[in-house]
Amino acid sequence: MLGEVKINMGNTANIITVETSARHVHVTEKDIARLFGEGHKLTEKKRLSQPTEFACEERVNIIGPKSEIKNVIILGPARKATQVEVSLTDARTLGINAPVRESGDVAGSGACKIVGPAGEIDISEGVIAAKRHVHLRPEDAEKIGVKEKQIVQVKVKTSDRALIFGDVVVRVNATFMPFMHIDTDEANACAASGNVEGEIIV
Ligand SMILES: [Zn+2]
Repeated sequence: MLGEVKINMGNTANIITVETSARHVHVTEKDIARLFGEGHKLTEKKRLSQPTEFACEERVNIIGPKSEIKNVIILGPARKATQVEVSLTDARTLGINAPVRESGDVAGSGACKIVGPAGEIDISEGVIAAKRHVHLRPEDAEKIGVKEKQIVQVKVKTSDRALIFGDVVVRVNATFMPFMHIDTDEANACAASGNVEGEIIV
């Protein structure tokens, strides 16, 4: 998600750019005030491939029962629920049980402490490993022949570790740009360095 923004739908509609999302945190307005001070506004550093989302200058530390991960990036804008997206390797390091979930589906997910420059919060749920997904516009979904929430496979064509991912959720919205998002464990599993190409298999 933080790589170069590059749209590549290739010759066929089924070819999509696969981006790696590193660990990050989404925060509520209330938690921005608690972590960074009353009246604080998130500082946009870089627009992401999904044009409504941006990487911020702000960083927090994530603390679990076993260890701490420092300098975790905040992604804006503010959300309805605070959510910490980590890899399963991160979750094991922290000692947190992070279920594989779609973004926003945080009920009963992992707990942690989040430490910012102005304060800290304990969240009882919100730590997840993001379920891998593709973002499509309605016109892309129509060309490919898929619908919102459909589960597809995506074949990632790296030179040394080509891999077919199953359980990929299709998300369709007019505000999206066509990209697949995987986490750092998944990127390592297929030796993806930077953005790579994937083929959606319906
Ligand atoms: Zn995404």
